Formats: sequence, structure tokens, C-alpha cells
Amino acid sequence: MEDCLFCKIIAGEIPSNKLYEDELCYAFYDIDPQAPVHFLVVPKTHIKSADELTEENAGVVAHIFVVISKLSKELGLENGYRIVNNCGQDGGQTVGHLHFHVLAKRCLAWPPG
Ligand code: 5GP
Ligand code: ZN
Repeated sequence: MEDCLFCKIIAGEIPSNKLYEDELCYAFYDIDPQAPVHFLVVPKTHIKSADELTEENAGVVAHIFVVISKLSKELGLENGYRIVNNCGQDGGQTVGHLHFHVLAKRCLAWPPG
């Protein structure tokens, strides 16, 4: 956990382009955007991945989805957006702190490949 990039971003030890913060989560723009709007929302608690969710710690996920819905209105994402969670090696996860990507303002293909 001490070496976790996103824990360091939450703590302000590594700079980020912050979009939103509350007691439970932190939202910031992705350093390598894959769409005109691309931000990440992470729980402030260190949870390694979606595979580490339990009945005890999963409440923050519902909170994050409500925050995303509010941010989408503030950012004018009325045409829609995609929420992505990459889980584990085969899922393409590169940072071991649970995070949800929000991508918008371009037409996103499905299936993603
Ligand atoms: P993953 O591949 O784990 O689902 O997504 C990790 C995301 O974190 C990637 O989209 C990557 O661009 C982003 N990222 C990696 N390092 C940093 C950083 O230092 N700052 C920010 N803002 N995003 C980062
Ligand atoms: Zn962490």
C-alpha cells in the first residue's frame, strides 16, 4: 500500500489534475487520456481491485457511481459515457488500486477488443 501510486495521488504526494474529492473518493483526469474526456474515480481506502470487494467494503462502489452521475451532469456528458474497470492482469489493470475509468465525448466501439 505504501508504494501505491493512487494512494500517493490521494495524499497529494504526487500531483494530479483533480476533478472532485469527498470523504470516500477522489476523481482526477487520466495522465494518458483515451477520449476527449477521461477521468478516474478511486476509493480513498486502498482496495487492490474489484476482485477484493466484499460485503464490508463494497459500499464505496455505489457511492462512486453516484459521484460519476453527478460529475457527468457538471461536465455536460449528456450524450453518454463509458465506465470501465480493468481487473487483474488479463483485465488490463496496471495500477493496483481499484479505479473506475470514465470515458466520454467520442463514440466508443463495442465490443472494445
Ligand atoms: P488501468 O490500466 O490500471 O485500468 O488504468 C490505470 C490508468 O492510470 C491508466 O489509464 C493510466 O494512464 C493512468 N495513470 C497511470 N499513472 C498515472 C499518473 O501518475 N497520473 C494520472 N493522472 N494517471 C495515471
Ligand atoms: Zn492505493
